This record gives sequence, C-alpha cells and structure tokens, in this order.
Amino acid sequence: MAEIVDIAIVGGGPAGLTAAIYGARARVNTVVFEAGLPGGQIVSASMVENYPGFPDGVTGNDLADLMFRQAQGAGAEFRTINPVEAIRPDGKQFVLSTPSGDVAARVVILATGAIPKKLGIPGEAEFTGRGVSWCATCDGPLYRDKVVAVVGGGDSATQESVYLSKIATHVHLIHRREELRATQCLQEQCFYNEKITMHLAHTVDEIVGEGGRVKALRLRSREDGSVSDLPVDGFFEFVGIDAMSDLVKDLCDLDELGFVIVDRSGQTSHAGLYAAGDVANYELKQVVTACARGAFAVDHAVRYLNLEFGV
Ligand SMILES: Cc1cc2nc3c(=O)[nH]c(=O)nc-3n(C[C@H](O)[C@H](O)[C@H](O)COP(=O)(O)OP(=O)(O)OC[C@H]3O[C@@H](n4cnc5c(N)ncnc54)[C@H](O)[C@@H]3O)c2cc1C
Repeated sequence: MAEIVDIAIVGGGPAGLTAAIYGARARVNTVVFEAGLPGGQIVSASMVENYPGFPDGVTGNDLADLMFRQAQGAGAEFRTINPVEAIRPDGKQFVLSTPSGDVAARVVILATGAIPKKLGIPGEAEFTGRGVSWCATCDGPLYRDKVVAVVGGGDSATQESVYLSKIATHVHLIHRREELRATQCLQEQCFYNEKITMHLAHTVDEIVGEGGRVKALRLRSREDGSVSDLPVDGFFEFVGIDAMSDLVKDLCDLDELGFVIVDRSGQTSHAGLYAAGDVANYELKQVVTACARGAFAVDHAVRYLNLEFGV
C-alpha cells in the first residue's frame, strides 16, 4: 500500500471540519474524505441562530463554507465526492476503501453524522421530490404563495417552520405529542406566528396525491382517533435522525439505536478509531457539540499517534 495518512477523517460536516482544523494545526497529516461536498446537514439549515459568534444568525450554507475554508487554510487535505466504502483494521492501522483506491490510516475519526429519519408512511416514497422534502432551504422557495406542512416537534421542525412561513402563504406544524420539545424561544416564534397553525397530538397517516404531486395529508387525532384530510402543496419532514454508522458496525460498539459508543475523548471500543458529532452516542446533536467533539477526538488522536507511532 503506497499511501499512509496519519489521521483520516471520514465526513466533512461540522465535526469533521473542526477535527480537520485541529489536526492540521497540530501539524499532523490530516485528510478528510467526504462523500459529497463539505458542510454536512447544516447546509440544509435555513438559519443557524445558536452558534456563538453570529449575533444575527448565519445561514447553514455560509457557516459550512467558513468552516471548510478555515480547515483548508489550516492545511487539511480534502478528498471530496469520495465516499469511504469500507474500513478494515490492518494491525494497529486501518485501510479505507474509496472509489479512488485504498488508503492506509494510522487513526480514523468517524464523523459521518446522520441522515434525517423518514416517516415510512404510504405516499412518502411516491411523492419524494414531488412535494415531500427534508430540506426547507433547498425546496422551500418552490412553495412561494402555497400552503405547506411540517411534521416534527424539535428545533429543526420549528426553525424550518418559521423559515417556510416567510415564503408560503401558510404553514401547518404537525406533532404527535401534546407539547413541542423544541427550545422555548423557537416554540414562541411558532406560537406567535399567525402564519403557522399547530396540529398537536396528531399523526400523519398518509400522503395523498393527485396528478403526481402532493395534494393533502391524512391526519389522525391521537385524542379521539378521528381522521381528516389537510390540503397542502408541500410537506417537510423533521422527525429525527438515523446515525450513519454502518461503516464501523463490525469494528466497534454501537448503542441500541445505532449510534457509536464513545468515551469522553471520542475513543470508540476499537483503539485508534474515534467518533465525533451526530454519529456518536451523546445528547444534544447540534453544530456546537459536533465541533467540540471533533476537537476532543483529534486532540486525543494526536496524543495516541505520538504514543503508538512516534508521529
Ligand atoms: C434542517 C436542519 C436544521 C438544523 N439546524 C441547526 C441549528 O440551527 N443549529 C444547530 O446547532 N444544529 C442544527 N442542525 C443540526 C446540525 O446540522 C448537526 O447536528 C450537525 O451538522 C452534525 O454535524 P456532523 O459533522 O456530526 O454530521 P453531518 O453534518 O451529518 O455531516 C456528516 C458528513 O459526513 C459525510 N459522510 C457520510 N458518510 C460518509 C462516508 N461513508 N464517506 C465520506 N463521507 C461521508 C456526509 O456527506 C456529511 O457531509 C440542523 C440540522 C438540520 C437537518
């Protein structure tokens, strides 16, 4: 094997980009492998209002771009549109398989993040891209002067509802519980917005279409079981995330939901393999925590490299 990198970071979202900044600044050979373009999930956030340093908020796209430029400027190397397809141990090292060939790495930091969960209801697959979406920033502008619905009760659902209310004529926010679980200030932005109607204690049973596009949502009340059709032109789902941990499922311990179990430093149950960001099993999956965990992981990894490989 010709090429050996010191730190291979798999995933170029906030966790991977922060790890890249710290790794490169430690003057360790740091390479980021990214399946698409750098940025991760945050690229689909219309506005990030809780990342320190941006009192007026920042679009997810701009924040991702700033982090990427900072990592590149620090000296990290990027291999984009280059998904890691497999990771296998090779003695104390690892071999990463990518479409452009195999690469050996002394340390791997898994920062593959998560992908939005799907509801798995009738009509979802049929109308994906034809009215059903997981990204308000990408698809919201298609619904100018139209009616949309959002399902979910957390920060993403409320934040994206507020964003969509600036474009659509009306937004219906549907949540299966009687209370939202979003941060209080995001809840208030929804409750006091006359363009947002809440449908609490309701589930979406089916996405109903006509002429190949979404026409209505079939809602079920969890209080009395009654079913009704809510006419909408677009439907956005923000109901949680699934960990992108398949690559390491046979290498280290995962929790019952598929998140990688890590200690405080980001070390997994396999020596030399770290995990940071949404793929790891800690609470509060946010940009600021992903960044912090990326920094912890690489800080520990640099010490491990020194101890085990004399780097
Ligand atoms: C709509 C929306 C709005 C949000 N708003 C906010 C907000 O306002 N504030 C906030 O703090 N958080 C917000 N979040 C959450 C935040 O985006 C995530 O917590 C954060 O992006 C997690 O970062 P990460 O680096 O762990 O993973 P991700 O952002 O998921 O990045 C993982 C990266 O890994 C890449 N990857 C995956 N598999 C592979 C592979 N096999 N090989 C190579 N690369 C791979 C992916 O392409 C991706 O780029 C929002 C999320 C969404 C979806």
